[in-house]
This record gives sequence, structure tokens and C-alpha cells, in this order.
Amino acid sequence: MANCGRCYHCLRRQANHCDYWGAIGDTVDGALAEYVLAPARNLYRVEDHETLEEAAFTEPLACVVWGIERLRVRPSDRVLIFGAGPIGALLTRMLHLSSAADIVVVDVMREKLRVAREMGARATFVATDDLTAQLEERTQGRKFDIVLDCTGVPTVIEGMFRHAGSNARIMFFGVASPQAEIRIKPFDVYHHDWEILGSMAINYTFQQARDLLAAGRLTVKPLISRIAGLDEVAGILGRAKTPTELKTLIAPNAA
Ligand SMILES: [Zn+2]
Repeated sequence: MANCGRCYHCLRRQANHCDYWGAIGDTVDGALAEYVLAPARNLYRVEDHETLEEAAFTEPLACVVWGIERLRVRPSDRVLIFGAGPIGALLTRMLHLSSAADIVVVDVMREKLRVAREMGARATFVATDDLTAQLEERTQGRKFDIVLDCTGVPTVIEGMFRHAGSNARIMFFGVASPQAEIRIKPFDVYHHDWEILGSMAINYTFQQARDLLAAGRLTVKPLISRIAGLDEVAGILGRAKTPTELKTLIAPNAA
């Protein structure tokens, strides 16, 4: 991320809302290359015992760290996560390291749920017609204290509210289309003391992600689907992800 460090939001520690928000390889060209020019303040140390493949997870983990800070996990929280992609898996691992009592992950792909269990999910469910009944049974009808969407799919987001218990925190982590709309009942938000939270990218959480990876607090290897060379980038970006694909890394100096 490349925030300006000088605008109103940056000065209030809201770097993710910087008036001049940017990211190398996103708003600025040039990340998928053998050499990349970056401002010195964007550089972070990778320790000698770390691999570059693991260090590549610093950015997504920094997003997850911001989400975890926003969630304020409490001892014995029961957590439900929709979506077992790389972000859902990293959130699962971070919650596994927290004081949450239960971590349940839902996805449509069994293979991704297997990885979610490896990352610390205590139970996983394939999204089927009787999912609601299965989740009710899991919590003995008490529902969940934290419900997280990591899919960005409006129907999933709308449906996740039915699993939120009293005082639940409900987080929209997945990126939905800017045009997407959902329906919720304001009465339910009032009646259940719900908190609805967003989590936008990174907010001075890069160093925390670095520290967690350098300390070996989480294994990211199960999330690497493949490592490709620079010559494969156009083909990879031009196609849809396969259903079981997690992270594809680009190694600029391979070959
Ligand atoms: Zn700024």
C-alpha cells in the first residue's frame, strides 16, 4: 500500500482511507517485474530463515490483521466464516491463535475446507440446503458471536445474518460488487445488539503481519497452489481461478 502520510486521514491513523490511496501493482504499474521501484518507507525486512514464498503473504495477512483488530475477539467467542479462500483461511488461522472457542468454516469446495481445517477450523460444512440446521445444531441454537463473510457474494452476505447471535459482530470482509445490495431488517440489528463491521485493506498493520510470519505463528504453505514465472503472468491473469485454486505466486527470477 502507498498512502501519502500527510492527508487528514493519514494523520488520524486512517491510512486505508488516504485521500491519495494507492498500491504498487494496483494503482501504480510495475509490480510484476524482475525489479520494482518502491518508496523506502514501504520496505520491510524479511528474516534470513524466511522464504520469499512465505513472505509474499505479508500483504494479505496485513489485511487480516486489520480485520482481527476491528473484530475485538473475546474469550470463548464462537466464530462462523463463509468462504475458505486464502483470506478465509488466513482469518481462520488468526482466530485459531486467539481465544475463540469455536471456529466453523463454510464453503462450496471440499478441498478448500480440508485446507481450512489444516489452518485451524474446528468444524467445516459444505454449503448445502440443510446448512442452517447443521449450524443450529453446532451452537445448540445459540448461534455465533462473530459471523464473517469472505466471499463477497451478496446472497451469502444476506444469509449470514440468520446465524448471528445476541451481541454478534458481523463483518463484511469479502469485496462485493459496488452495485450489490442486500436486505436486512433494522429491527434485528436493534433487537440483537448487533455490530456490523467493514474491514478495508490495511491500516498500519504491515509490520504486525511481518512479525507474525517471521515468528512462525502461521504456516502459509497449504495456501500456495502453484508458483509461476513472469512469462506466465498474462495467461494466469487472463483466466478465471479454478475452483480449488488458492494462491498462485509469481516468482520473477524463476526459470
Ligand atoms: Zn494520505
